[in-house]
Amino acid sequence: MKIDESIVQGAQSLLADAQNIVITNHVGPDGDAMGSALGLKEILRQQGKKVTVIVPNIYPKFLKWMKGDDEVIIFEDNHEVASEVLKNTDLIIYLDYNSLSRSGDMRDVLASAAAKRLVIDHHQQPDDFATVLYSDTNMSSTCEMVFHLAQALGWDEYINKESADCLYTGIMTDTGNFRFSSTTPTTHRAVARLMEKGVLPQEIASSIYDTNSRNRLKLLSRCLERMEVFPQYQSAIMSLSASDLDEFDYQKGDTEGFVNYGLTMEGTIMSVFLSEKDNRIKMSFRSKGDFNVNQLARDHFNGGGHINAAGGISEVSMEETIEKLKALLPQYEELAKK
Ligand code: 5GP
Ligand code: MN
Repeated sequence: MKIDESIVQGAQSLLADAQNIVITNHVGPDGDAMGSALGLKEILRQQGKKVTVIVPNIYPKFLKWMKGDDEVIIFEDNHEVASEVLKNTDLIIYLDYNSLSRSGDMRDVLASAAAKRLVIDHHQQPDDFATVLYSDTNMSSTCEMVFHLAQALGWDEYINKESADCLYTGIMTDTGNFRFSSTTPTTHRAVARLMEKGVLPQEIASSIYDTNSRNRLKLLSRCLERMEVFPQYQSAIMSLSASDLDEFDYQKGDTEGFVNYGLTMEGTIMSVFLSEKDNRIKMSFRSKGDFNVNQLARDHFNGGGHINAAGGISEVSMEETIEKLKALLPQYEELAKK
């Protein structure tokens, strides 16, 4: 993987100059966000750097086995400690997001921090706030990018089993288990090297996926029952209300991946999953081929992401949000017919 030389040199000098480093990621950290943060932390730790991972809010239990997890600071629960660390850091590394607006309550502290900024991310349309920006929307995951950057910096020796496990996790989850079109020969070459470092795919897959509680499966069942299909638009919509979530004792991460079920139905190329959390409607979009859900989420639901995977927020009721979505479907008919 060839990374632009100016990016490699820029990253090299930022990292060489920094002793105290903070790594952050986006609100609602997922496998790629946590895997890249803890994987990179371990790589830097071995080089004698002091690295603190600060994330905006809590993340699912099935991600809590990675090395360094016990030292992660959750901003939402520890404003003061986190703000103090951020004030005294030389370098802040932004992983798996490219707009300060995706950092939740951390936004103001990050915006006013004096530290330099290294951004590593694979989402569309990055904002202009980085000192050094390594952005590549063709990459499967931020974990894959961290791997390639480490290689470009000559740091293969610092990728041990623990960091490889973290990086593999994000590649696996962000590619939907190596299924999405973002999975390339380069991705598989990175994965091959991570396996040479000791990663056992069966072990990671089991840690991430074989963790269902009975309640989570019941919630999935409710969600599937609720699925509405629009064959003329090759689309599916699923939703869970706050009372559904309550009924099955919703835990962070329980609805992760539900949106993908809409796409498993024959003939469907776009799937939306809506859930009522914190008095707002959180939306997840997935698509196949040219159906651009990044644009849909950006234009209408204050969100964004990738062409085939995006998220957004709606401040009106569930019913109104679903009505709005349905009203938008005809507009996307041409795209859906491709
Ligand atoms: P998910 O549906 O898994 O929450 O998110 C899918 C993709 O869209 C992820 O890459 C995520 O970072 C991005 N995403 C999710 N929610 C939002 C949002 O509210 N705004 C933006 N800009 N991106 C989002
Ligand atoms: Mn990602």
